[in-house]
Amino acid sequence: MITFEQVTKTYDRKAKPALRDVSLKAERGEFVFLVGPSGSGKSTFIRLILREETATAGRILVAGQDVSRIPTWKVPHLRRNVGTVFQDFRLLPNKTVFDNVAFALQVIGKSRAVVKDKVPEVLATVGLQGKERRLPHELSGGEQQRVAIARAVVNRPGILLADEPTGNLDPETSLEIMALLERINRGGTTVMMATHDDEIVNAMKKRVVELSEGRVVRDEATGTYRVSS
Ligand code: ADP
Ligand code: ADP
Repeated sequence: MITFEQVTKTYDRKAKPALRDVSLKAERGEFVFLVGPSGSGKSTFIRLILREETATAGRILVAGQDVSRIPTWKVPHLRRNVGTVFQDFRLLPNKTVFDNVAFALQVIGKSRAVVKDKVPEVLATVGLQGKERRLPHELSGGEQQRVAIARAVVNRPGILLADEPTGNLDPETSLEIMALLERINRGGTTVMMATHDDEIVNAMKKRVVELSEGRVVRDEATGTYRVSS
């Protein structure tokens, strides 16, 4: 589903590469943690998958497509198949929960009938039934992240990328969000999550890919993570 072949990314010729010679394969339906300290290259990895950045060397395949060969006008099409969730939720502050999720369907031209059908369905899946008319600021952090996850998966993308999705949440809420991501993964969506939260990684017993200074230094099928201090 996601393949990196000897990928190097250099933002600045004078600086060290953000990613160096990274090779990695995530199969359809896998759950992969991308771990490592701040600055190790996790966000760069995610931005490359989304074609928000392009690799300096190497090749990246997403759902069989070489992302560097996708013409700019087709990049939105790539991103439709790759849902994204971030630490800071990134909801539209003046739109209701319903409309935040509906927006993801409206921008790809789905009919009103589809919106009316799919939005309540996905909100129920993430446990937000009854909150449709709330505004983001009326919700807890965990609820806001559920809205963001609903928006990310309402189009049924093959891949869900999550960049520090629990970074603003307390430990208990974080585990609830992880249970939700695991449920989405069991439905067949490939999930890749960047985090430096060792407790979460150790609780989940999933594949762990560790980055250090832009290199993959560890890749274990059911791994753990210990933050070095
Ligand atoms: P992480 O997500 O693990 O914190 P990043 O991918 O954000 O790591 O950063 C990896 C390295 O690339 C860091 O040294 C960072 O300073 C550098 N970097 C990230 N984004 C940019 C950018 N837009 N321009 C220049 N350097 C960047
Ligand atoms: P119209 O009144 O133009 O036919 P709709 O009835 O489809 O439009 O929706 C109008 C607004 O009502 C939507 O933008 C949304 O904010 C809200 N809405 C629609 N369905 C629901 C629902 N099931 N739950 C909560 N809000 C809804």
